[in-house]
Amino acid sequence: MRALNSLLRDNIRLLTPYSSARSEFAGVASVYLDANESAYGSPVATAYNRYPDPLQRASKQKLAALRGVSPEQIFLGNGSDEAIDLLMRAFCDPGKDRIVISPPTFGMYSTAAHVQGVEVISVPLVEGFELDLSGMLEYSALPTKLMFVCSPNNPSGNLVQSDKIEELCRGIDGLVVLDEAYTDFCSDKSFVSRLEEFPNLVILQTFSKAWGLAGLRAGVAYASPEIISVLNRIKFPYNMSQAIQETLEKALDNTNYVESVVSKTLVERTRIADALSKFSFVSEVFPSDANFLLIRVADADRLYNDLLKRGIVVRNRTTQPLCQNCVRITIGTESENEMLLSALQELEADYG
Ligand SMILES: *Cc1c(COP(=O)(O)O)cnc(C)c1O
Repeated sequence: MRALNSLLRDNIRLLTPYSSARSEFAGVASVYLDANESAYGSPVATAYNRYPDPLQRASKQKLAALRGVSPEQIFLGNGSDEAIDLLMRAFCDPGKDRIVISPPTFGMYSTAAHVQGVEVISVPLVEGFELDLSGMLEYSALPTKLMFVCSPNNPSGNLVQSDKIEELCRGIDGLVVLDEAYTDFCSDKSFVSRLEEFPNLVILQTFSKAWGLAGLRAGVAYASPEIISVLNRIKFPYNMSQAIQETLEKALDNTNYVESVVSKTLVERTRIADALSKFSFVSEVFPSDANFLLIRVADADRLYNDLLKRGIVVRNRTTQPLCQNCVRITIGTESENEMLLSALQELEADYG
């Protein structure tokens, strides 16, 4: 890794951050007349008349305790999407720098790059959806600023071997962005406990999947305090509303709920994987460490449309590299999964 200062865009390194009222005075006072808020409450049952904590300290404290890191290693934002966008804007100069992705993978990495006019290099996964480490290392030097690795990967569902992630971190000039959106569903330990070993590692997690809060919009980036402070300097001052922060704090007090959702999901994942493999038009059920299954079928377009006619929507991934005739199916509740299986039974009869 190069020194963080030499990876940053010049304009970001030289930026004077916006100074909000709540960042200039973060203490406790009796009378707040500094932010031009209304002092008269709000026209709804909950009072939202005050600006929220720009650094979400209460939420971060709970999350830090849960994950065994310090609050200075945590960035919170409007979904992981916000962290992806901010990393792009902090480190990648339009028309000059580039990022590396390994398709088939999550679409936001390349979208966020293209929004900024940043070149995207694709080093596709190889057979078995494995990372092509040597292919990626060919781009180890600047101007490659960010390499995105998704583990477990969306849409394939498999974990990336941890020694490959380690080698990537050690071998490149820029940052490794490891997206662990599905980490709660998998057997391997998160890399969050290893941040100190890898100063150029940024880990993304989200409250959108196992935590059941996709509608809330809350995502996390874990990294060194130096990297986190860069993200904090360029984010919108109040990037997480009071409503979101309060809800997040409550969720972080209810980890039992999340654990029970995860264990139900894992039971269902095994059951559905087994059932899917028995249909004649299903040729492959890929192993999954996430809350979805990728399957290969005889005709993905046809299956997609036939399920849709029965009110069931899955994700057709057939146009993605290595995913010809593949569909991605999220694990639902037990009764939703039953509806899926009976629809597939009807189709088995039709296709026969
Ligand atoms: C769903 C998902 C996310 C979550 O994004 P949010 O913006 O936090 O909702 C991130 N990465 C991957 C790979 C995902 O599949």
